[in-house]
Amino acid sequence: MNLEEYRGVWVFIEQQEGQIIDVGLELLGAGRDLADKLEVDLCGVLLGHNVKDSAKELFAYGADKVYVIDDPVLEKYRTETHMTAVGDLVRKYKPEIFIYGATSNGKDLASAVATEVMTGLTADTTLLDVNVEKRLFEASRPAFGGNIMATILCKKHRPQMATVRPKVMPKPEPDHTRKGEIIEEKISIKEEDLRTKVLEIVRDMNKAVNLEDADVIVAAGKGIKDEKGFAMVKELADVLNATVGASRDLVEAGLCGHDHQVGQTGLTVTPKIYFAIGISGAVQHVVGMQNSEMIIAINNDPEAAIFNAAHYGIVADAFEIVPMLTEEFRKA
Ligand code: FAD
Repeated sequence: MNLEEYRGVWVFIEQQEGQIIDVGLELLGAGRDLADKLEVDLCGVLLGHNVKDSAKELFAYGADKVYVIDDPVLEKYRTETHMTAVGDLVRKYKPEIFIYGATSNGKDLASAVATEVMTGLTADTTLLDVNVEKRLFEASRPAFGGNIMATILCKKHRPQMATVRPKVMPKPEPDHTRKGEIIEEKISIKEEDLRTKVLEIVRDMNKAVNLEDADVIVAAGKGIKDEKGFAMVKELADVLNATVGASRDLVEAGLCGHDHQVGQTGLTVTPKIYFAIGISGAVQHVVGMQNSEMIIAINNDPEAAIFNAAHYGIVADAFEIVPMLTEEFRKA
């Protein structure tokens, strides 16, 4: 493999029913930085049916070029179709770096493409950089239970690929004056060649919470002890019109479902305000909430690690302070 032939930073732009989802835009922001350092183009890859108009939107978020394959066969995500389309593009245009959102489809596609074009993949990364001199992509992710950050390099194969957690990179402010180039390509397979068909998409209506889009999260940990404590936290959340989050230990204690879990094995969240009530601040929890705009921690242990991550700390018994806060916010 001649590594010199590979140039450009690519971002897979995921869409659902024609709507571009935020993680692709977040990655254009991160990709712009990598492309500027390497002095190459930043390119989006958009697949689907009737998606061409959405491609223009991507220039505002930093793309110089967008490769579009618009075909009915790509209307719904299927590993087979998307892997073939992306694999063909990679073989033809040879990108140096290729990043995908670590969503269900992004993770599935990235691993399939890695196999298809025989390269490596770093999964679930939270930090991206590049060694310009060596032209090496430095994709980092928490490892060993979140105790260290591992930077994984792909030295001998191209493209250098990674999936990146949604909400970790900030979405850039759009600049609608930016212009770029749309490159239309075709997919090499037809519906009748495919082994899979999407008959129906059934949405999970049981998903109790949407933590990732919440502006205010009131999160509880083992310090709130039992159902009575959890009800107290829920009351504060109700008054603030907030969503309830939780540490893993609280989920494991059976006080709420995994949908509420924030952290390494839960969700990454970036609300405007994050209340951490009775949460010790283990690194595996903090990685999921440390980019919140304002973190307010309540803990009765002044040495608790959560205070290192917090902008405001209240050293107090949650059972005294939380009802007081609820009453004050109710009056406001
Ligand atoms: P504790 O650590 O028990 O802390 C309870 C806190 O409450 C203490 O700080 C205590 O001082 C305080 N407290 C007690 N009583 C009161 C009171 N009356 N008023 C105020 N404060 C009080 N954890 C996650 O959260 N998310 C993850 O995604 C996650 N993933 C993990 C992945 C791996 C591979 C591993 C090994 C661990 C993971 N963990 C995760 C677990 C993590 O290491 C911690 O065990 C967990 O976050 C601790 O939860 P906690 O803070 O609720 O409980």
